[in-house]
Amino acid sequence: MSALLKTNDLTAFYGDFQALFGVDFEIHAGETIAVIGANGAGKSTFLKSITGLLKASKDAVQFGSEPIGGMAPGKIVKRGIAMVPEGRRLFPSLSVEENLLIGGYAKRPGPWNLQTVCKLFPILKERRNSPSTALSGGQQQMVAIGRALMSNPTLLICDEISLGLAPIVVKEIYDAMPSITAGGLSVIVVEQDVGTAKQVSNRLYCMQEGKISLTGKSDQLTHDQLSKAYFGI
Ligand code: ATP
Repeated sequence: MSALLKTNDLTAFYGDFQALFGVDFEIHAGETIAVIGANGAGKSTFLKSITGLLKASKDAVQFGSEPIGGMAPGKIVKRGIAMVPEGRRLFPSLSVEENLLIGGYAKRPGPWNLQTVCKLFPILKERRNSPSTALSGGQQQMVAIGRALMSNPTLLICDEISLGLAPIVVKEIYDAMPSITAGGLSVIVVEQDVGTAKQVSNRLYCMQEGKISLTGKSDQLTHDQLSKAYFGI
């Protein structure tokens, strides 16, 4: 089966500083992949390179049969990649509903709309007219996920969605994942928490100093392998 998204010898730079060194990665339709790694390992840089926020060379990122490296972020969303950014980045002056509607601008057909997002996270229906800033951190994360789903992506990318949230809230959010992936959507989750990453994913990539230090099936990787790949010890 050919990959939905593939990176080939992907490199990334901030000026003269090289942050990624030849990253080879692939995700297939319906898979949930976790990307883990310590602070500064290159996880966000990897996501930025896929979503066009950081310029990648054309053939280094392949989505379906098309090279998308270096393509503008808006065009990449229209092709079916949506991102839940680290820190959620909601529009503070807009209501929950308005934030969700903004996600639909790509006008891609599919199962996700205001009704289905509110069915997934019923609290968003209750709070639809509230300013997004009036919501708790967990509820804001639900808005950010809902906004990304509204573009009906084929690949959903979640950057550290558990950051700063209580474990019970993290569980509530990840409990929604099976409903999100039920229709065959592929998901990349970036996580600092290895336990959560292993639990929610089929396969896992660990990054260290801008390189992939380990990859494998999440339920087969041992604690020792993971600590070595994560911390380099
Ligand atoms: P975190 O978990 O803290 O978000 P990360 O694994 O996502 O870490 P990146 O943010 O991708 O790591 O950072 C990878 C490397 O690139 C680090 O050495 C970081 O200091 C550097 N870096 C990240 N953003 C920039 C930038 N805008 N300018 C210069 N260097 C940067």
